[in-house]
Amino acid sequence: MSKIAFLGLGVMGYPMAGHIAAAGHDVTVYNRTAAKAEAWVEEHGGSHAPTPAAAAEGADIVLSCVGDDPDVLQVALGPDGAVPAMREGAIYIDNSTVSADVARKLAAAGSERGISMLDAPVSGGQAGAENGKLTVMVGGAQDTFNAALAVMQCYGARVVHMGKAGTGQQAKMVNQICIAGVLQGLSEGLNFAIEAGLDTDALLEAISGGAAQSWQMVNRGQTMVKNEFDFGFALDWMRKDLRICFEEAERTGAPLPMTKIVAGYYDELSAAGHGRNDTSALIRRLRNS
Ligand code: NAP
Repeated sequence: MSKIAFLGLGVMGYPMAGHIAAAGHDVTVYNRTAAKAEAWVEEHGGSHAPTPAAAAEGADIVLSCVGDDPDVLQVALGPDGAVPAMREGAIYIDNSTVSADVARKLAAAGSERGISMLDAPVSGGQAGAENGKLTVMVGGAQDTFNAALAVMQCYGARVVHMGKAGTGQQAKMVNQICIAGVLQGLSEGLNFAIEAGLDTDALLEAISGGAAQSWQMVNRGQTMVKNEFDFGFALDWMRKDLRICFEEAERTGAPLPMTKIVAGYYDELSAAGHGRNDTSALIRRLRNS
């Protein structure tokens, strides 16, 4: 069993760290808002630390699941950041969805200190984190991946090594690009059905077994029809993820014409006060709801 530090106990990090503790590892948690760390220790045992550095001291593996690029840089490399406090030979795994640039920056900072880095963003949402059934897309050295696999499998049902540093984040970008297009198509289809007066229960039963089937259709179709969006993956997080995709596409030269249109729709929804709605709220624009 390993000595683990987990930084960031949000919607995702809290249950992910819980699964690592349940597997028998010795877990120290850090959360910016200390009350959440205290609640976590109450529920899962282990201990909590006042800073990322204090949590990381002596750990074999340090994981983070925070927010955007500056947040990861702060907990990893900022004042009281984890990396300078880590012992040589330890592993840092970042589970946040951030730019490939940050992943590469962490890898470079780690290698200067003899610390191996993995960028390991996740997909599967709050439910996937709570059930320990996330998909984990991992960039970094193969031997580091092999050494950290058992810990990532505590919260991941599918843990895939993509290649060198940054490729985990690039894989997650592809995931988000695909979701954006699928959700706009599903929104247009369901709105078309409602306008045509179709029985949407019968419709979803019919088409969710055919070629139009998607995770979004199966898991979000009914709630989109009912105008329910107060759950799931906040569209403001999606706006951050798509911004990261556009920055990377600028670098690689890949055009993203449809994704750009959908990103504009998410901006509109956020400006209208729906930023914490699930990403399936794209249908709201069509229904004026
Ligand atoms: P969240 O519920 O908003 O939690 C964010 C966590 O990060 C909190 O513990 C927060 O601390 C901490 N944090 C943020 N900025 C920080 C900083 N500068 N310094 C220290 N701590 C900081 O977010 P989440 O939904 O768990 O998402 C976390 C990451 O996973 C994001 O990159 C997100 O894109 C990705 N993700 C989310 C989902 C999802 O369905 N939610 C799915 C896949 C991937 P406080 O408690 O003090 O605010």
